[in-house]
Amino acid sequence: MVQTISLLGSTGSIGRQTLDVCREQGIRVAALTARSSLDLLEEQARAFRPRLVAVTDLEPALELARRLAGLDIEVAYGLDGLRRAASLPESEAVVTAVVGMAALWPTMAAIEAGKRVAFANKETLVCAGELVMEAARRYGAEIVPVDSEHSAIFQCLRGGRGREEIKRLILTCSGGPFFGLSREEVAGKTKADALRHPNWSMGEKITIDCATLMNKGLEFIEAMRLFRVTPDQVDVVIHRQSIVHSMVEFRDGAILAQMGTPDMRLPIRYALTYPDRMQSELPGLDLLTCPPLTFAPPDLEAFPCLKMAMECARTGGTSCAVLNGANEAAVELFRQERISLGQIPELVARALDAIPSLSHPAMEDILEADRKARECVERAVS
Ligand code: NDP
Ligand code: MG
Repeated sequence: MVQTISLLGSTGSIGRQTLDVCREQGIRVAALTARSSLDLLEEQARAFRPRLVAVTDLEPALELARRLAGLDIEVAYGLDGLRRAASLPESEAVVTAVVGMAALWPTMAAIEAGKRVAFANKETLVCAGELVMEAARRYGAEIVPVDSEHSAIFQCLRGGRGREEIKRLILTCSGGPFFGLSREEVAGKTKADALRHPNWSMGEKITIDCATLMNKGLEFIEAMRLFRVTPDQVDVVIHRQSIVHSMVEFRDGAILAQMGTPDMRLPIRYALTYPDRMQSELPGLDLLTCPPLTFAPPDLEAFPCLKMAMECARTGGTSCAVLNGANEAAVELFRQERISLGQIPELVARALDAIPSLSHPAMEDILEADRKARECVERAVS
């Protein structure tokens, strides 16, 4: 189990739950970072007394430095601040709870410093997963997933062992708030509808991704990168109860599943205590009162985002970065209520059509594909 961590994105949903786990397990926090939630960041800094806090911009950094004066906490800002937070010598692990591609460079800094990376952020793995995993091997950085499905698979594999014995990974998917609806019905849903997830409480971006099933598409690619399997070795099943968090089928036909109540603190705790399992006060799953467990295939016609992601998983190259960049831009427009929910898959499809995929991309190619995809979406709506 790790003793000290850096937490990138401490004010978000995963960030706050990570601090719950740190409190519970007595884990020290050496660095906290956020973008603009100054009040919460200040409160967290006062409670956890990290050595460093970092925000994205200079103005909020100056304000925070004023508020934290006399506490012996250094305040940094910008990419440099995030990178420093990710590579503090005393931190054994870095939790990447920043949303979107903004996590890429700080994550790379953590890897280059040889840290354990507790990977919550999925967008960087989707866009640059091959390069990220290769860098982790080169620098001896341990990658431990936080995303509940991938943590479940990691737990079934007991770390990275036995990869050659895997027949397939079975990702479970709650189906989101619009399960059972047609494509037309989903397309007309509002932001308030999309933010009502049946089983999990999360940040807005991922909650919207859950409504379009893009989240499961991103997780499909994330699973391929983390566990180095082919697209044919990943399946998605709808499991409305979110109790089986995912499964591994081995070559002898045995299927192992990880089950539990839907609570992100379990995978977060495991990422920090692995290979140990530590005591938790959270209530466990009561098998006798939990609802019957059901499994069904996803409806790829009603949820084209999942279908497109599966296609990009096969195409590889820069297509996954285009998919993700276009989706991040479209979800932002939907959050601002400038486009309908149905326009998200349309805009992603448009970007994928317009931007050819480049195979064996370098990091610059991935960043360029990401930029072009965002531009394509912006142009389409302006
Ligand atoms: P939130 O939106 O709740 O939190 C995001 C965090 O990142 C906040 O601390 C935010 O700061 C910070 N942040 C946002 N934009 C930037 C930026 N451009 N640069 C630096 N920091 C930034 O997200 P979640 O916690 O829901 O998700 C975080 C990641 O974890 C995502 O990639 C998501 O897909 C993944 N994940 C989340 C799950 C969940 O249950 N929430 C489950 C599995 C994976 P501020 O508050 O100041 O804006
Ligand atoms: Mg997940």
